[in-house]
Amino acid sequence: MAQSAPLVLRLLACSASAATRAGSIIKDVMTKGDLGIVEKGSGKNDLQTEADRSAQRCIVASLLRLFPDVTVIGEEGCCNTSDEVPPDWIVTDLDSGVLSSQCPPEFEKVDPKDIVIWVDPLDGTSEYTQGLLDHVTVLVGLAVKGKAVGGVIHQPYHEYKVKKECSGRTLWGLVGLGVGGFTPTSPPKDKFIVTTTRQHADDVVNKTLEVLHADEVLRVGGAGHKVLMLLEGKAHAYVFASKGCKKWDTCAPEGLLRSLGGVLTDIHGREYNYSKDVCFPNAQGIFATSRYVNHQELINKIPQELKDRFPY
Ligand code: AMP
Ligand code: MG
Ligand code: MG
Repeated sequence: MAQSAPLVLRLLACSASAATRAGSIIKDVMTKGDLGIVEKGSGKNDLQTEADRSAQRCIVASLLRLFPDVTVIGEEGCCNTSDEVPPDWIVTDLDSGVLSSQCPPEFEKVDPKDIVIWVDPLDGTSEYTQGLLDHVTVLVGLAVKGKAVGGVIHQPYHEYKVKKECSGRTLWGLVGLGVGGFTPTSPPKDKFIVTTTRQHADDVVNKTLEVLHADEVLRVGGAGHKVLMLLEGKAHAYVFASKGCKKWDTCAPEGLLRSLGGVLTDIHGREYNYSKDVCFPNAQGIFATSRYVNHQELINKIPQELKDRFPY
């Protein structure tokens, strides 16, 4: 069964297992207490820890061992098969829930050359170092022919404040198939809630939020965490008029969002391309909505002078 499943399902199943393993590595680093923080140098709140580095090695090595013909791009740099990785970081079991699903016809035969996996081994690193652990996610996004069509979001510290044993949770999605690992929920009908960055706001980010006239603005960490809020009905839209997010921040979240009929574009309303040779920054900002929202109507509220701050 595992061998005969289509490539896209096997990849997604491996991504789910590897993201979960990476989550346990992230928790081990925190438990040991030596985070090994490095400033990445592109401005404030851009950090890397031992958890980011180790989680990336786990995910990339696991994927490349089984799928050497697929392109894998990770936030923390070079991904190649010759990297030495502790053997118990390499997952060999593929998530059975994903594997046993019915593959949508459009993904039954996909050429490995048309696939890019975008890995953010730890999204929400600042929050991780500050103890806001439920903002942390592991993101493995699946792009086919440049489109974000699926992915995995693992949340290692899900409900860690209320659960004694914290095993986290692993959510996945594929366009045409749907989602697994959680129960999607619709947002409230009587108010309009927007989520955005808590650490990377500036004048343009805030002015763009003002024109949307939200009843509530939830400022939380992580791109994965914010899209989770859309998937679980805690917010209607995620808006970030800034070039700070990269392709690895949005590929998996967009894949899950699209699997449920939502949309993620730039602030002009155009889709991002996730092919292997694109530039990493999402230079025209983030505008994501759940399927309960009219995406274009909201985009139309942003004045042209703000949109002009994000030229192509
Ligand atoms: P945030 O919504 O601020 O938590 O950011 C979501 C993701 O985008 C995180 O991975 C951040 O590290 C990244 N990000 C957003 N803005 C910036 C920025 N100005 N510099 C570096 N990374 C950023
Ligand atoms: Mg990130
Ligand atoms: Mg990261």
